[in-house]
Amino acid sequence: MKTNSSLEFSRLAEYYSRLESTTSRIEITKILSSLFSETPKEEIPLVCYLTQGKLRPDYEGVELGVAEKLALRALGLATGLNIEKVSEVYLQFGDIGKAAEKLVSQKAQASLFSSRLTLKQVYDSLLKISKLSGQGSLDAKLRELVGLLNSSTPLEAKYIMRIVMGQLRLGVADYTILDAAAEAFLGSKEFRQDIEKAYNVHPDLGFVVSKAAEEGISGIRSIGVQIGIPIRPMLAERLESAVSIFEKLGKRELAAEYKLDGERLQIHKDGEKVILFSRRLEVITHHYPDAVELVKKYLKANKAIVEGEVVAINEDTGEYLPFQELMHRRRKYGIEEAMKEYPVSLNLFDILLFEEKEMIDRKYIERRKMLESVIEQEERIMPVPMIMTSDPDRVERYMQEAIANGCEGLVVKDPDSTYRAGAREFAWIKLKREYRSELTDTLDLVIIGGFHGKGRRAGTLGTYLLAAYDDKRNVFSSVAKIGTGFTDEDLRKLPEILKEYSMSVKPQGVESNIEPDIWFKPHLVIEVIASEITLSPTHTAAWDRIRKGTGISLRFPKFTGRIRDDKGPEEATTVDELVEMYKKQLKKIESEG
Ligand code: ATP
Repeated sequence: MKTNSSLEFSRLAEYYSRLESTTSRIEITKILSSLFSETPKEEIPLVCYLTQGKLRPDYEGVELGVAEKLALRALGLATGLNIEKVSEVYLQFGDIGKAAEKLVSQKAQASLFSSRLTLKQVYDSLLKISKLSGQGSLDAKLRELVGLLNSSTPLEAKYIMRIVMGQLRLGVADYTILDAAAEAFLGSKEFRQDIEKAYNVHPDLGFVVSKAAEEGISGIRSIGVQIGIPIRPMLAERLESAVSIFEKLGKRELAAEYKLDGERLQIHKDGEKVILFSRRLEVITHHYPDAVELVKKYLKANKAIVEGEVVAINEDTGEYLPFQELMHRRRKYGIEEAMKEYPVSLNLFDILLFEEKEMIDRKYIERRKMLESVIEQEERIMPVPMIMTSDPDRVERYMQEAIANGCEGLVVKDPDSTYRAGAREFAWIKLKREYRSELTDTLDLVIIGGFHGKGRRAGTLGTYLLAAYDDKRNVFSSVAKIGTGFTDEDLRKLPEILKEYSMSVKPQGVESNIEPDIWFKPHLVIEVIASEITLSPTHTAAWDRIRKGTGISLRFPKFTGRIRDDKGPEEATTVDELVEMYKKQLKKIESEG
């Protein structure tokens, strides 16, 4: 690790080239670890963010937002070629990075790279591009990008263009970066768990890795829960019945809570300042000014982090309403009216920090007690309804009651469990009625393409191509085409949302044998139901996994009306989950037959 001048960007590009040429996690870790050792300490955060194709941690919401068209124009200006020629090369390669490499190399013969680009220059320039908005910003972005390209070598141009278009997919998972940091700075595998825990409570790779670089293991262990920094949420597993939950956990007594159908909020209160984070850790304070007021008024703590579900309610009866009602609250303007028209209640289910006390390592039962004691209960703010019981029948009855009251079912919790940030484990278990019906659950799939509509849908996209996430291989594999369940409003709205993610070539990290009219970068997740999972000769999800030369697909897929913008594409239903569901379905058919 150096502490003097900035890393040359060409070094980073060489490392990226090496990373690209391997899929072995061990090899990737080694390469990264050597990259970290070579990077000046103050630049370690920059390397962490860029390697993920980002500029800042996700929760800060910094996006590069350079569309395909702008990228192509910049390449044209930097290389002195017209847009038709640039597009031709781009379509030929199907990859903005390779196209840039080629075009810049052709030009390179004429020009010498007098000044070498540094990592800091590239990073600052990209950050500047991301901050430009409003009138004239397109031109300003263009100028900045052309400036960068003018000083780039072909290899540098390749990665710069991939980064600006959100197409840098080096296959480096967050956890691999943590592995490499442990290897480079902590020197022992036994500290791997510590660094992972630090990341789960402070999900900023740049911060965590540079802490390891500067202070070693003691620095990592000093990272704790902090107001203003969102904690990665604990997630739930699922089981089919109360009996199986008791069996699985082997506990006499369990806590059963209503599973409310709203939006998850992680609420940070610091005096009069309140921040609301979504499930994907985005700041959504502005959607719920009424929830903020409730917290200020009824949460009896100066400093606290609590979690709960905000749910739309019927003001007259106090009944919970379905999630869809909350969609009306996601707007930039007219929030005041929306607040009156679609009132909400705040139902808290956890406490992670109380004053100076970190609560995540306390048992559920202690946290629940603390939660109950800090909420001044009122009509619109309360702890979620909960019972403690040792009787599976009581759990089943409680689930019926929850469903009758407008909930999805229950979340059953192990009373001895700590808050496992970022983990999906059997400490929280979902119990829903729909698990007993046909296809076990709804699926959350990513839109990767669209087809022009016919007839009544002419002029818009009538059908979409969906993918599941293959988390082992870090790719999005096609699983179905979907054309039902969309309202006219959906058909108008979806292309609008998707516009900025459209591409004329297949995006990096997408696998599909079907060629849609328009490709979309994996971004938008929608909820889908289907009657069953089938084998498919065309769709690529789970290719060769169940049968050779075959993938899986969905029979009668239908949009439920729910856009899952609380989930990122990597949080979509995974290919492994689909395979699991397919096997379960077979078992069911066998046992019924
Ligand atoms: P689903 O699609 O079933 O909501 P998911 O993948 O979005 O699942 P899970 O972690 O599997 O999320 O399910 C837990 C979610 O249920 C939480 O993120 C939260 O929004 C919601 N929820 C509602 N009530 C509770 C509760 N009492 N305790 C924990 N989570 C709850």
